[in-house]
Amino acid sequence: MRAAVLHAAGSPDAFDICEVDRPDVGPDDVLIRVGACGVSFRDVVERNGTYKRDVSYPLIIGLEISGTVVEAGALVEDLQIGDRVCTKAFSSCGRCNLCRSGRETTCSRRRPVRGGYAEYVALPQDACVRTPADMPFEVSCGLGPSAGVAVNAVRDVAHVSIGETVLVTGATGGVGVPAVQIARAMGARVIAVTRSEDKRDMLSAIGAHEAVVAEPDAFAREVRALTDGRGVDVVIDTVGSRVFDAAFDSLAVHGRYAMVGQLYGENIAINPARIFFKRAQILGVGSVSRVQLEDAIALTASGVVQPQIARIMPLEEVAEAHRLVEGGAAAGRIILKP
Ligand SMILES: [Zn+2]
Repeated sequence: MRAAVLHAAGSPDAFDICEVDRPDVGPDDVLIRVGACGVSFRDVVERNGTYKRDVSYPLIIGLEISGTVVEAGALVEDLQIGDRVCTKAFSSCGRCNLCRSGRETTCSRRRPVRGGYAEYVALPQDACVRTPADMPFEVSCGLGPSAGVAVNAVRDVAHVSIGETVLVTGATGGVGVPAVQIARAMGARVIAVTRSEDKRDMLSAIGAHEAVVAEPDAFAREVRALTDGRGVDVVIDTVGSRVFDAAFDSLAVHGRYAMVGQLYGENIAINPARIFFKRAQILGVGSVSRVQLEDAIALTASGVVQPQIARIMPLEEVAEAHRLVEGGAAAGRIILKP
Protein backbone atom coordinates (compact mmCIF):
# COMPACT_ATOMS: atom_id res chain seq x y z
CA MET A 1 0.00 0.00 0.00
CA ARG A 2 0.99 3.62 -0.42
CA ALA A 3 1.90 5.56 2.70
CA ALA A 4 3.68 8.69 3.92
CA VAL A 5 6.44 7.28 6.12
CA LEU A 6 8.72 9.09 8.58
CA HIS A 7 12.16 7.54 9.07
CA ALA A 8 13.13 10.20 11.63
CA ALA A 9 11.69 13.38 13.12
CA GLY A 10 12.13 16.42 10.92
CA SER A 11 10.69 19.20 8.79
CA PRO A 12 7.52 18.82 6.68
CA ASP A 13 9.78 17.48 3.92
CA ALA A 14 10.73 14.48 6.07
CA PHE A 15 7.81 12.39 4.70
CA ASP A 16 8.72 9.60 2.30
CA ILE A 17 5.80 8.60 0.05
CA CYS A 18 6.44 4.95 -0.68
CA GLU A 19 5.01 1.43 -0.91
CA VAL A 20 4.89 -0.50 2.37
CA ASP A 21 3.22 -3.74 3.49
CA ARG A 22 -0.34 -3.59 4.72
CA PRO A 23 -0.42 -3.65 8.54
CA ASP A 24 -1.09 -6.90 10.41
CA VAL A 25 -4.58 -7.23 11.86
CA GLY A 26 -4.66 -8.47 15.47
CA PRO A 27 -7.62 -10.37 16.95
CA ASP A 28 -9.03 -7.17 18.51
CA ASP A 29 -8.32 -4.99 15.45
CA VAL A 30 -10.14 -3.89 12.34
CA LEU A 31 -8.43 -3.08 9.05
CA ILE A 32 -9.71 0.21 7.66
CA ARG A 33 -9.43 1.39 4.06
CA VAL A 34 -8.70 5.05 4.76
CA GLY A 35 -11.22 7.44 3.21
CA ALA A 36 -9.79 10.64 4.69
CA CYS A 37 -7.33 11.69 7.36
CA GLY A 38 -7.27 15.12 8.98
CA VAL A 39 -3.95 16.78 9.72
CA SER A 40 -3.93 17.69 13.41
CA PHE A 41 -1.54 19.64 15.58
CA ARG A 42 -0.57 16.37 17.26
CA ASP A 43 0.59 15.19 13.83
CA VAL A 44 2.80 18.27 13.60
CA VAL A 45 4.44 17.70 16.99
CA GLU A 46 4.86 13.98 16.29
CA ARG A 47 6.51 14.75 12.97
CA ASN A 48 8.87 17.40 14.33
CA GLY A 49 9.88 15.30 17.34
CA THR A 50 8.28 17.36 20.15
CA TYR A 51 5.81 14.59 21.00
CA LYS A 52 7.70 11.38 21.78
CA ARG A 53 5.15 9.15 23.53
CA ASP A 54 5.23 5.64 21.98
CA VAL A 55 7.10 6.94 18.92
CA SER A 56 9.43 4.62 17.01
CA TYR A 57 10.57 4.57 13.38
CA PRO A 58 9.64 3.92 10.66
CA LEU A 59 6.46 5.75 11.65
CA ILE A 60 3.16 6.43 9.90
CA ILE A 61 1.24 9.19 11.72
CA GLY A 62 -2.32 10.50 11.30
CA LEU A 63 -5.03 10.07 13.96
CA GLU A 64 -8.10 11.81 12.49
CA ILE A 65 -9.08 8.82 10.42
CA SER A 66 -12.27 7.84 8.66
CA GLY A 67 -12.81 4.96 6.32
CA THR A 68 -14.40 1.59 5.68
CA VAL A 69 -13.84 -1.62 7.64
CA VAL A 70 -12.46 -4.22 5.19
CA GLU A 71 -11.29 -6.90 7.65
CA ALA A 72 -12.12 -7.71 11.28
CA GLY A 73 -10.14 -9.74 13.83
CA ALA A 74 -11.67 -12.79 15.52
CA LEU A 75 -12.56 -10.89 18.73
CA VAL A 76 -14.21 -7.91 17.04
CA GLU A 77 -17.91 -7.87 17.96
CA ASP A 78 -19.27 -4.39 17.39
CA LEU A 79 -18.05 -3.66 13.87
CA GLN A 80 -18.59 -5.47 10.58
CA ILE A 81 -16.95 -5.46 7.19
CA GLY A 82 -18.42 -2.59 5.20
CA ASP A 83 -19.08 -0.36 8.22
CA ARG A 84 -17.90 3.22 7.95
CA VAL A 85 -16.02 4.45 10.99
CA CYS A 86 -14.10 7.39 12.41
CA THR A 87 -11.57 7.36 15.24
CA LYS A 88 -10.86 8.55 18.76
CA ALA A 89 -7.35 9.89 19.41
CA PHE A 90 -6.56 6.95 21.75
CA SER A 91 -7.80 3.43 22.27
CA SER A 92 -8.61 2.33 25.81
CA CYS A 93 -8.53 -1.13 27.38
CA GLY A 94 -12.11 -1.15 28.68
CA ARG A 95 -11.11 -3.14 31.77
CA CYS A 96 -9.02 -0.92 34.08
CA ASN A 97 -10.57 1.00 37.00
CA LEU A 98 -10.56 4.24 35.03
CA CYS A 99 -12.30 2.66 32.02
CA ARG A 100 -14.85 1.01 34.30
CA SER A 101 -15.69 4.31 35.98
CA GLY A 102 -16.42 6.29 32.83
CA ARG A 103 -12.94 7.80 32.62
CA GLU A 104 -11.58 5.93 29.60
CA THR A 105 -9.65 8.96 28.29
CA THR A 106 -7.13 8.46 31.10
CA CYS A 107 -7.05 4.64 30.74
CA SER A 108 -3.79 3.36 32.19
CA ARG A 109 -3.26 1.21 29.08
CA ARG A 110 -4.38 3.72 26.46
CA ARG A 111 -2.59 3.65 23.12
CA PRO A 112 -2.38 6.55 20.67
CA VAL A 113 -4.15 6.12 17.34
CA ARG A 114 -1.85 6.55 14.35
CA GLY A 115 -1.41 5.40 10.78
CA GLY A 116 -3.95 7.41 8.79
CA TYR A 117 -1.41 8.73 6.27
CA ALA A 118 -1.74 5.47 4.32
CA GLU A 119 -4.22 3.55 2.21
CA TYR A 120 -4.94 1.11 5.06
CA VAL A 121 -4.60 1.20 8.83
CA ALA A 122 -5.22 -1.47 11.48
CA LEU A 123 -6.67 -0.19 14.76
CA PRO A 124 -8.20 -1.66 17.94
CA GLN A 125 -11.99 -1.79 17.69
CA ASP A 126 -12.23 0.48 20.77
CA ALA A 127 -10.71 3.36 18.78
CA CYS A 128 -13.35 3.17 16.03
CA VAL A 129 -16.91 4.47 16.13
CA ARG A 130 -19.46 3.79 13.38
CA THR A 131 -20.64 6.74 11.26
CA PRO A 132 -23.75 7.07 9.07
CA ALA A 133 -23.40 5.62 5.56
CA ASP A 134 -24.17 9.00 4.00
CA MET A 135 -21.69 11.06 6.05
CA PRO A 136 -18.71 12.03 3.85
CA PHE A 137 -15.31 10.81 5.08
CA GLU A 138 -14.00 14.40 4.94
CA VAL A 139 -16.70 15.37 7.47
CA SER A 140 -16.35 12.42 9.85
CA CYS A 141 -12.55 12.10 10.01
CA GLY A 142 -11.97 15.00 12.38
CA LEU A 143 -15.03 14.66 14.61
CA GLY A 144 -13.21 12.97 17.51
CA PRO A 145 -10.56 15.61 18.17
CA SER A 146 -12.87 18.51 17.26
CA ALA A 147 -16.61 18.10 17.92
CA GLY A 148 -16.04 15.19 20.30
CA VAL A 149 -13.69 17.24 22.47
CA ALA A 150 -16.14 20.15 22.27
CA VAL A 151 -18.96 17.92 23.59
CA ASN A 152 -16.62 16.88 26.41
CA ALA A 153 -15.72 20.49 27.24
CA VAL A 154 -19.03 22.30 26.86
CA ARG A 155 -21.51 19.67 28.03
CA ASP A 156 -19.66 17.22 30.25
CA VAL A 157 -16.96 19.31 31.96
CA ALA A 158 -18.23 22.92 31.97
CA HIS A 159 -21.90 21.81 32.26
CA VAL A 160 -23.14 24.79 30.27
CA SER A 161 -26.84 25.40 30.84
CA ILE A 162 -29.55 27.44 29.18
CA GLY A 163 -29.27 31.20 29.60
CA GLU A 164 -25.58 31.23 30.50
CA THR A 165 -22.95 33.25 28.68
CA VAL A 166 -20.00 31.34 27.23
CA LEU A 167 -16.73 32.77 25.95
CA VAL A 168 -14.87 30.63 23.39
CA THR A 169 -11.23 31.46 22.64
CA GLY A 170 -9.64 30.29 19.39
CA ALA A 171 -13.19 30.17 18.09
CA THR A 172 -12.27 29.52 14.46
CA GLY A 173 -10.13 26.50 15.39
CA GLY A 174 -10.82 22.78 15.36
CA VAL A 175 -12.40 22.64 18.81
CA GLY A 176 -13.50 26.28 18.84
CA VAL A 177 -16.00 26.01 15.98
CA PRO A 178 -17.96 23.04 17.38
CA ALA A 179 -17.72 24.53 20.90
CA VAL A 180 -19.52 27.64 19.62
CA GLN A 181 -22.13 25.54 17.82
CA ILE A 182 -22.78 23.19 20.76
CA ALA A 183 -22.93 25.99 23.37
CA ARG A 184 -25.43 27.83 21.20
CA ALA A 185 -27.52 24.69 20.75
CA MET A 186 -27.55 24.26 24.54
CA GLY A 187 -29.19 27.67 24.92
CA ALA A 188 -26.17 29.73 25.87
CA ARG A 189 -25.23 33.16 24.59
CA VAL A 190 -21.88 32.69 22.87
CA ILE A 191 -19.12 35.28 22.66
CA ALA A 192 -16.33 34.21 20.32
CA VAL A 193 -12.84 35.70 20.43
CA THR A 194 -10.34 35.81 17.62
CA ARG A 195 -7.32 37.96 16.77
CA SER A 196 -8.01 38.26 13.09
CA GLU A 197 -10.50 40.71 11.55
CA ASP A 198 -10.97 38.49 8.47
CA LYS A 199 -12.35 35.74 10.71
CA ARG A 200 -15.23 37.91 12.01
CA ASP A 201 -17.63 36.81 9.25
CA MET A 202 -16.81 33.18 9.92
CA LEU A 203 -17.64 33.62 13.62
CA SER A 204 -21.08 34.96 12.76
CA ALA A 205 -21.58 32.21 10.17
CA ILE A 206 -20.86 29.46 12.67
CA GLY A 207 -23.37 30.88 15.13
CA ALA A 208 -21.58 33.08 17.63
CA HIS A 209 -23.92 35.75 19.05
CA GLU A 210 -21.05 38.20 19.42
CA ALA A 211 -17.62 38.24 17.80
CA VAL A 212 -14.79 40.04 19.58
CA VAL A 213 -11.77 40.72 17.41
CA ALA A 214 -8.95 41.83 19.67
CA GLU A 215 -5.48 41.10 20.94
CA PRO A 216 -5.29 39.24 24.26
CA ASP A 217 -4.47 42.45 26.17
CA ALA A 218 -7.72 44.07 25.03
CA PHE A 219 -10.53 41.57 24.83
CA ALA A 220 -11.47 41.35 28.55
CA ARG A 221 -12.67 44.97 28.42
CA GLU A 222 -14.87 44.22 25.40
CA VAL A 223 -16.25 41.05 26.93
CA ARG A 224 -17.14 42.90 30.14
CA ALA A 225 -18.83 45.62 28.10
CA LEU A 226 -20.92 42.96 26.36
CA THR A 227 -22.00 41.47 29.69
CA ASP A 228 -22.89 44.65 31.62
CA GLY A 229 -19.60 44.44 33.47
CA ARG A 230 -20.45 41.04 34.93
CA GLY A 231 -18.29 38.74 32.81
CA VAL A 232 -19.11 35.32 31.37
CA ASP A 233 -20.31 32.24 33.23
CA VAL A 234 -18.05 29.88 31.32
CA VAL A 235 -14.79 30.14 29.39
CA ILE A 236 -13.95 27.41 26.88
CA ASP A 237 -10.26 28.11 26.26
CA THR A 238 -8.77 26.33 23.26
CA VAL A 239 -5.69 28.61 23.06
CA GLY A 240 -4.08 28.48 26.50
CA SER A 241 -1.30 30.58 27.99
CA ARG A 242 -1.40 33.54 25.60
CA VAL A 243 -5.05 34.35 26.33
CA PHE A 244 -5.33 33.04 29.89
CA ASP A 245 -5.00 36.36 31.65
CA ALA A 246 -7.63 38.09 29.54
CA ALA A 247 -9.96 35.11 29.51
CA PHE A 248 -9.74 34.73 33.30
CA ASP A 249 -10.41 38.47 33.63
CA SER A 250 -13.51 37.95 31.47
CA LEU A 251 -14.90 35.32 33.85
CA ALA A 252 -17.76 36.27 36.19
CA VAL A 253 -17.73 35.39 39.89
CA HIS A 254 -18.51 31.69 40.39
CA GLY A 255 -17.51 31.13 36.75
CA ARG A 256 -16.07 27.91 35.29
CA TYR A 257 -12.90 28.03 33.23
CA ALA A 258 -12.45 24.96 31.01
CA MET A 259 -8.90 24.46 29.75
CA VAL A 260 -9.02 22.58 26.46
CA GLY A 261 -5.87 23.55 24.61
CA GLN A 262 -2.37 24.91 24.97
CA LEU A 263 -0.96 26.01 21.62
CA TYR A 264 2.27 27.46 22.99
CA GLY A 265 4.97 26.21 25.32
CA GLU A 266 5.05 28.94 27.94
CA ASN A 267 3.70 28.86 31.49
CA ILE A 268 1.07 31.08 33.05
CA ALA A 269 1.39 32.93 36.33
CA ILE A 270 -1.59 33.78 38.51
CA ASN A 271 -2.01 35.09 42.00
CA PRO A 272 -4.09 32.38 43.72
CA ALA A 273 -6.20 35.09 45.33
CA ARG A 274 -7.64 35.90 41.92
CA ILE A 275 -9.04 32.36 41.81
CA PHE A 276 -10.60 32.30 45.26
CA PHE A 277 -11.83 35.91 45.28
CA LYS A 278 -13.72 35.00 42.14
CA ARG A 279 -14.80 31.56 43.52
CA ALA A 280 -13.66 30.31 40.14
CA GLN A 281 -13.43 26.70 39.05
CA ILE A 282 -10.55 25.78 36.76
CA LEU A 283 -11.31 22.58 34.90
CA GLY A 284 -9.14 20.37 32.73
CA VAL A 285 -10.66 18.85 29.58
CA GLY A 286 -8.90 15.97 27.89
CA SER A 287 -9.64 14.02 24.72
CA VAL A 288 -12.90 12.28 23.89
CA SER A 289 -14.73 9.16 25.03
CA ARG A 290 -16.65 6.78 22.76
CA VAL A 291 -19.96 8.13 24.02
CA GLN A 292 -18.90 11.73 23.39
CA LEU A 293 -17.77 10.82 19.88
CA GLU A 294 -21.04 9.01 19.18
CA ASP A 295 -22.91 12.12 20.34
CA ALA A 296 -20.69 14.37 18.21
CA ILE A 297 -21.47 12.21 15.16
CA ALA A 298 -25.21 12.49 15.90
CA LEU A 299 -24.95 16.28 16.37
CA THR A 300 -23.17 16.51 13.02
CA ALA A 301 -25.71 14.29 11.27
CA SER A 302 -28.50 16.55 12.58
CA GLY A 303 -26.71 19.74 11.48
CA VAL A 304 -26.01 21.24 14.93
CA VAL A 305 -22.29 20.83 14.30
CA GLN A 306 -21.02 21.83 10.89
CA PRO A 307 -17.34 20.99 10.46
CA GLN A 308 -15.31 23.60 8.60
CA ILE A 309 -13.08 22.13 5.92
CA ALA A 310 -10.33 24.39 4.60
CA ARG A 311 -8.72 22.08 2.04
CA ILE A 312 -8.70 18.49 0.84
CA MET A 313 -5.32 17.38 -0.51
CA PRO A 314 -3.81 14.18 -1.91
CA LEU A 315 -1.34 12.25 0.25
CA GLU A 316 1.50 13.43 -2.01
CA GLU A 317 0.96 16.98 -0.70
CA VAL A 318 1.46 16.00 2.94
CA ALA A 319 4.43 18.37 3.33
CA GLU A 320 2.36 21.35 2.20
CA ALA A 321 -0.51 20.22 4.44
CA HIS A 322 1.83 20.24 7.44
CA ARG A 323 3.11 23.71 6.59
CA LEU A 324 -0.48 24.99 6.51
CA VAL A 325 -1.39 23.43 9.87
CA GLU A 326 1.84 24.46 11.58
CA GLY A 327 1.47 28.02 10.28
CA GLY A 328 -2.07 28.20 11.68
CA ALA A 329 -3.33 30.11 8.67
CA ALA A 330 -6.10 27.75 7.61
CA ALA A 331 -9.68 28.46 8.75
CA GLY A 332 -10.98 24.92 9.08
CA ARG A 333 -9.43 21.51 8.78
CA ILE A 334 -6.77 20.35 6.35
CA ILE A 335 -7.60 16.87 5.12
CA LEU A 336 -5.55 14.26 3.26
CA LYS A 337 -7.12 11.72 0.92
CA PRO A 338 -4.72 8.76 0.73
ZN1 LIG B 1 -8.46 1.11 30.63
